[in-house]
Amino acid sequence: MRQPGERRGVPRSPIRCYLTRRRYAGAVTEVSCIFCQIVRGDAPSSQVYEDDDVLAFMDIRPFSTGHTLIIPKRHASGLGDLEPELGGKVFQVAQRIALGLRRSSLPVDGVNLMLADGRAAMQTVFHVHIHAVPRRHGDKLSIAKRVLMRRPTDLDEAAALVREGLDKLATEGR
Ligand code: 5GP
Ligand code: ZN
Repeated sequence: MRQPGERRGVPRSPIRCYLTRRRYAGAVTEVSCIFCQIVRGDAPSSQVYEDDDVLAFMDIRPFSTGHTLIIPKRHASGLGDLEPELGGKVFQVAQRIALGLRRSSLPVDGVNLMLADGRAAMQTVFHVHIHAVPRRHGDKLSIAKRVLMRRPTDLDEAAALVREGLDKLATEGR
């Protein structure tokens, strides 16, 4: 039987596979989009925040412990098809997550909020998302290492700590 990537028994060249991946990557739909699957509950995630419009959950391959992704629940592949009002709500939640990370018992001296829009900007999941990445003073080397060799950690445990930070904010009336 023919394998994916083979035609008449001949393996596809690497360049052909690359072009095929690019073509399919451009055609992500709400059905195939991994973040839409997470929103629907069809794929697992360690969630830290949810409201009617926005969801926040742990990145599966974190740059640092507590690395959180904040997404609009409604699919938008990039900034070009994201309603500005919804974008504002996503940013507001990202800001709150950043404050919650600082208030949590995780070691956090600072937070990077980052958004990649488009393949050239190194976007890999085509459903708009903001990364909230906890940082320590002098962590450049360990972050660089994690960027190169990212592996899953205990995401549920990290999520619990981030939720705890968010709860503390709420208790303080912030
Ligand atoms: P981008 O490269 O598009 O800025 O970021 C996409 C992020 O999504 C990456 O950091 C990657 O680890 C994360 N990611 C990819 N697939 C999944 C998944 O199935 N679950 C979760 N929680 N994160 C994912
Ligand atoms: Zn999506």
